[in-house]
Amino acid sequence: MELPSRLVGRLKEDLELIPNEISTHSNHHIGINFYDDLSKLHLLAVKAGIKRAYFDSVKLPSIYQYVPLTSIDSTTLTDDTKFKIMMLKRAQTTAERLGLKFYVSNISRLDFVDTDSIPKEIVEQHARIVIPAKEFWIYSDEQVLDEIRKVEQGKMRHGDLLGYPSCCVDWLSQVKTLLLELCYEYYCKEQDPTKTEKLLKFLTENVEQVPRDEVAEVNRKISIHVAMTCQKFPFVVHHACGNCIDHQETPTSQLNTTYRSFAKLISPGLYSSIIKGARKYVYNYTKDWPSGPIQ
Ligand SMILES: [Zn+2]
Repeated sequence: MELPSRLVGRLKEDLELIPNEISTHSNHHIGINFYDDLSKLHLLAVKAGIKRAYFDSVKLPSIYQYVPLTSIDSTTLTDDTKFKIMMLKRAQTTAERLGLKFYVSNISRLDFVDTDSIPKEIVEQHARIVIPAKEFWIYSDEQVLDEIRKVEQGKMRHGDLLGYPSCCVDWLSQVKTLLLELCYEYYCKEQDPTKTEKLLKFLTENVEQVPRDEVAEVNRKISIHVAMTCQKFPFVVHHACGNCIDHQETPTSQLNTTYRSFAKLISPGLYSSIIKGARKYVYNYTKDWPSGPIQ
């Protein structure tokens, strides 16, 4: 990768403006800086024009579904949520320092694909539910805001705006849809599916916790993808699909190469910290797995 030396110089200065703890996934408190380092890299990638937008999110109690961030009573929040909101505000200050734009939105829709196993009207209503969470976006080009709004309205997938490989975006949509189908089947056996409001609440809040072996199996597979992506492609922020994990020269490996070269160019320190941090993160994430930790 080649970038004008003046730009590289400016990015090196910008790197110093980003706090060490910057990601809502930060594990700084247990000595793992992987997500913070990765966030620094991807914020600078937005600044350099390599990436269109940076994205992070925070889940909130459902009473805050439509409440602006500034009006939230923090005494009602758990420590974890308080931490995430603090990180969100920190990201806003950092964006301003870097001369980038900041936008907070509600999460309006998950990226599901069509399914025949759930009635169409339920899928449509489910897609319109606003999840009690705030997403935030950092970007530089004004036009990106139009696309963020499309994502907000469910007309564009997050991953497509964030430059993730479409094979991996498709994979995540399929997995989420499968979880939704399993959750719907479970609900129909246990409860009355004609009570739509209760059903939709269940489909929104319990998708990943339904006590079914199939759900546990899907969650296990997602965890494997998270760990394998981090191990093989430590410079990307999406979860890679099976094809990208199992084969060489894939869209994810190419993207990883781009961000790896960018990291090396901006800061050899950040570059090696991401590699070391990824190893530490994967070990920590997989250390209690029955098959043993991935090293
Ligand atoms: Zn892929």
